[in-house]
Amino acid sequence: MIRKQKKNSKYKNMRAERLAQARRDETKVPSGRRYVLDGHTHTLGCGHAYCTVMELAAEAADAGLEMFCLTEHGPEMPGSITDMFFHNMLSIPPELFGVKIIKGMEANILDADGSIDASPAILPSLEILSASLHTPCFPPDTVERNTSALLGAIEKANVDFLCHLGNPQYPFDVEAVLQAAKRHDTMIEINNGSFYIRQGSRDRCVDIARRCRDLEIPVILGTDTHWAEDIGRFPWADRALTEADFPDELIINLDTKRLTDRLEAKGRKLGVVKKDRAVGLFDF
Ligand SMILES: [Zn+2]
Ligand SMILES: [Zn+2]
Repeated sequence: MIRKQKKNSKYKNMRAERLAQARRDETKVPSGRRYVLDGHTHTLGCGHAYCTVMELAAEAADAGLEMFCLTEHGPEMPGSITDMFFHNMLSIPPELFGVKIIKGMEANILDADGSIDASPAILPSLEILSASLHTPCFPPDTVERNTSALLGAIEKANVDFLCHLGNPQYPFDVEAVLQAAKRHDTMIEINNGSFYIRQGSRDRCVDIARRCRDLEIPVILGTDTHWAEDIGRFPWADRALTEADFPDELIINLDTKRLTDRLEAKGRKLGVVKKDRAVGLFDF
């Protein structure tokens, strides 16, 4: 009996070691680039992800990240949170387990004008704002209307970056959108999740990265993680950048200052500590 238990625990340990090795292998990227930030993550707040902010931060620390962006889905995504979530994000500390947290929103583009679901009232609460085309909020449309929606998000909503443009469900005029991104200093995301979630994204992501390289548009990598253990791991996005011969200088994720400088230049207030508001209220 005891021998059997010992045998079982030996196999358990071997399995745990195999899993741990698999995780380490996944963290490695062929290029050897050291990514220190993840631009795109989700929590169970959105209704279809499964971890908390604490869990994201703990895994981010394990993955060696210095920063991640909490970019919860805007309120028009079915099952997602309301404006109150974004109003109250100061309750989340600016840093957990030594990892800085940029608190923002992945807004939904709602129409061909590029309207988004970040209401003017909550914009001042956001440290970063990205925007995406998602089927429940903007059903795939013609090239003209998809393009118009993306241009509107850049030109009117002034988003910091556009997400998962490689999605083949939304064909658009790449040249027009990237030229607008260049003019408005909008970053373009290469989304690691697209390579297995939005199948057919591979070649489009590489093509978009190549054109960003030629136009000198910075890219930001996002895992779009809906499960904490994936945070900061970019095995596929890394390969896409290598295939596109993308220069390190234009990859935001290699230096957190590349992101914070851009956000602060736009007037976004970063790292505000809610409890600091009470400092100085008493003389003793
Ligand atoms: Zn998305
Ligand atoms: Zn997302």
